[in-house]
Amino acid sequence: MVERDAKSEDEWFRRNEKELLETARAARLKREQERLAREKAEETKRLKDLHFMKCPKCGHDMKEENLEKVSVDRCTHCEGIFFDAGELEQIFAQKDEQRRGFFRKLVKI
Ligand SMILES: [Zn+2]
Repeated sequence: MVERDAKSEDEWFRRNEKELLETARAARLKREQERLAREKAEETKRLKDLHFMKCPKCGHDMKEENLEKVSVDRCTHCEGIFFDAGELEQIFAQKDEQRRGFFRKLVKI
């Protein structure tokens, strides 16, 4: 009987140890995922701070201009123009006259 008790005690310790290891492993994975998410958010912020309103071609500042109710970003150096998502569709949805006005202002006639 004593031998059997010792055996079941060993079994209990083994099971308990396995559970502890699994709990520690799950906690470590959770911390790792949180760290990765934090790093990704920091990298996204860093890149935005670095590139926000900078020309994708020459790196100079972009300046927002409102043309016929649509705002575009124009480079202060090379005069390249950037449209935000949906802005081109906005222009195509305008009436012909308004659209012509937009393009005239765009090319600064
Ligand atoms: Zn530029």
